[in-house]
Amino acid sequence: MADDWNNGWSGNGSASTLFTNVRILDATGEYPYTGEVLVQGNRIKQITRGSSRFGSSSGYGGGMSGGATVIDGMGATLMPGMIDAHLHLSWNNAPGIDPIQMMELEEHMLVTMEMAKLVLDAGFTAGRGAAAAKPRLDVVAKKFINQGRFPGPRYLAAGPEITTVGGLGDAAPSHIPHEGLNLGLVVSGPEEIRRTVRQLIKYGVDSIKLNLSGEALTGMGAEETPMSEEEVAMAASEARCRNKVLSAHARSSGSVKQCIRHGIQNIYHASFADEEALDMLEAAKDRHFVAPGIAWLINTARYAEPWGIKPGSPVAMEYERELEMCVDTMKKMHRRGIRICIGGDYGFAWTPQGTNAKDIETFVTMLGFSPMEAILAATKYGGQIMGMSDELGMVKEGYLADLLLVDGDPIADVRILQDRNRILAIMKDGKFHRAPKMNEARRRLTA
Ligand SMILES: [Zn+2]
Repeated sequence: MADDWNNGWSGNGSASTLFTNVRILDATGEYPYTGEVLVQGNRIKQITRGSSRFGSSSGYGGGMSGGATVIDGMGATLMPGMIDAHLHLSWNNAPGIDPIQMMELEEHMLVTMEMAKLVLDAGFTAGRGAAAAKPRLDVVAKKFINQGRFPGPRYLAAGPEITTVGGLGDAAPSHIPHEGLNLGLVVSGPEEIRRTVRQLIKYGVDSIKLNLSGEALTGMGAEETPMSEEEVAMAASEARCRNKVLSAHARSSGSVKQCIRHGIQNIYHASFADEEALDMLEAAKDRHFVAPGIAWLINTARYAEPWGIKPGSPVAMEYERELEMCVDTMKKMHRRGIRICIGGDYGFAWTPQGTNAKDIETFVTMLGFSPMEAILAATKYGGQIMGMSDELGMVKEGYLADLLLVDGDPIADVRILQDRNRILAIMKDGKFHRAPKMNEARRRLTA
């Protein structure tokens, strides 16, 4: 029988899976309850409350009408796959911006697929692309993931960030004014931004990302707002007429206001939003999401010394200052009911891909979220920012079967979501990316 368990899971061929004896954390906000979840094809077919009809006697392929594979969760938590609101699959865990951009295209495409697997391995079954290092990396990654040819999260593709001359992403030196040296696509004026947006849409991106503020690590400070109203308006109207969503790197208060004025849905960072910006955002909170990318601030300020950013150095102190502002601003936003999502800027050496669930802990410890609220920021609101609120991010009948089986109670300790040994199974689209090792589970039970 033991061999049957092992061999059975690797095939993953069953069209139906029944999870029994699980505590269902459905991410509606309700406290976890005991029950069963039947997955048929790629969707959640049925949720039954109460203790199992099948007890612990169930086994692979055993006894179910319709031939469902039965997984005895033995009290583990079944919850939605986590969703990162600001993912850069082409950020290659390199020690800085330059080695991301300077990587040659062929290596970069392969590395992007490696990153996609790391993120899925960590229990992230979906993510919204926030920017790509080269025009088609995200588009091709998404295509190959969706075709089932490479493992990775459900993904919405971004293009490179669109930036202004001298803004974040324009790193070309004056004596080599070559566009290929830049992480961003550098524009000046409405016509240039119009052409760039159209080009990216032609390549197949799902969203357009604008760099509306600076960044302490670059030549332009985080509180500067370099893009003109005419440029932002042009980008927004070009994106909208092709039904594309807009995202923005927006640390400064002025850039947050630009997002609201021009209907830019995904506001990334927003650390320096002032009271006027918060009022505007609260009034439009059904149309926007905020993702602070807080791990980037913390780790750049405090944990990047091996890569040349010494804590206490001027740059690190800038990030400490922004972190303090960010914490204050996010607490205010949270009180105002503005939707705040986890995720952001993983993919540097000091914020490696696959550690994305750290945000959930940080939301609890630094931003005052309850564990449940922090988990909703990683699931329910993730489904919404993906544009799939009626089918992704919750355990509900009819929803897509993106599920995690977790050893323990994430509400009691959200940190277990960072431990891949505690994530017993990862299901995406009704298929196991990581099947449960039932022999190990049995050993745990008898131990
Ligand atoms: Zn980013």
